[in-house]
Amino acid sequence: MNKLISKEEVLSFDDVILVPGYSDLESRKNIDTSIDILYNNKKLNFKIPVISSPMSTVTEAHMSNAMISQGGLGIIHRYNTIEFQTKLLGYVNHRDYRAAAIGVTGDYKERLSSLAENDLSIVCIDVAHGDHVLVEKAINYVRSNYSNLFIIAGNVATGEGYKRLAAAGAHAVRTSIGSGSICTTRIQTGHGMPTFQAILDCMSAKTSLQKNNEKNIPYIIADGGIKNGGDIVKSLAAGADFVMLGSMLSGTRETPGKITIQDGKKMKRYNGMASKLAQKNWKGSYNSIEGVSSYVTYKGTTSKVVNEIMSNVRSGMSYSGASSLQELKENAVFRKQSNSSTIEGNAHIFNRNK
Ligand code: IMP
Repeated sequence: MNKLISKEEVLSFDDVILVPGYSDLESRKNIDTSIDILYNNKKLNFKIPVISSPMSTVTEAHMSNAMISQGGLGIIHRYNTIEFQTKLLGYVNHRDYRAAAIGVTGDYKERLSSLAENDLSIVCIDVAHGDHVLVEKAINYVRSNYSNLFIIAGNVATGEGYKRLAAAGAHAVRTSIGSGSICTTRIQTGHGMPTFQAILDCMSAKTSLQKNNEKNIPYIIADGGIKNGGDIVKSLAAGADFVMLGSMLSGTRETPGKITIQDGKKMKRYNGMASKLAQKNWKGSYNSIEGVSSYVTYKGTTSKVVNEIMSNVRSGMSYSGASSLQELKENAVFRKQSNSSTIEGNAHIFNRNK
């Protein structure tokens, strides 16, 4: 059967630009980047809508604590033994923000039980293809056995995927697929969706759930391919409630792993979880390789990096005249941009001297 190709383009961050608008904000200090999340009659406050990714070279206990102290969140990765992950969770300072990832096969129920005994509050059902029956079953299992947990699930690429995980009972949904800086999923499998487009599609699904007065309307977490403050502002303006960062937080002091010196420069590892290296480290073998592993420049403390990022985000909000994340969503005006506009938007003095 011939499949029709939709004529609608999919858009990436660089394909769009936010139009600056009138601002009556006299100081960026008055810009509030916080978000409250509500579930099971509980409220959790985040001063910044930023989550560090559950990857073995990004989030263990030090990163979780650093993110929590900045007002965000860190999710402890699952590419380790149950005992080690549980021990790491125990080092996370205060308890409402204890977050860890699990899978949907193998020992995931034992893992969850062990984490739950150590005051887990937020569980991330963390698989590459989240629009999947096993994810629905895992959400169901968590809801029936650990009803106090906040459930993040994903990743999905479409509004339909978002709706299915909403119906299954996820409190937050990660989107998209194939956008990550260390990801080769689109090359190796032909599938994926740019994060910006996935946010738009999930947002329109979310709006339709709201119109229908559905009971469970998950938060949207934009995940993968976010490379600068501008992409964060575009994500939040397009409908994401949170952004999840891998590469932007990689190479910081609090990431797992040692600093090595290469050509006199301090470097740390940043590995895609589906890279050959990460799979071999984690399970001793590998199958479908859908990621790469790399070294990144050492960036210093997470607090320094997060402060720089959030200073860009506040500046972005002020260009949209927004004093809160909700106002950013309401005020934001996007336009598509040409390739030459994208090129012009980068510092281009360097190209002229070539
Ligand atoms: P980044 O912020 O662009 O570096 O993307 C990080 C995100 O990429 C993670 O949160 C995951 O959703 C995704 N990811 C992590 N490892 C891999 C991989 O090996 N292949 C594909 N996607 C990955």
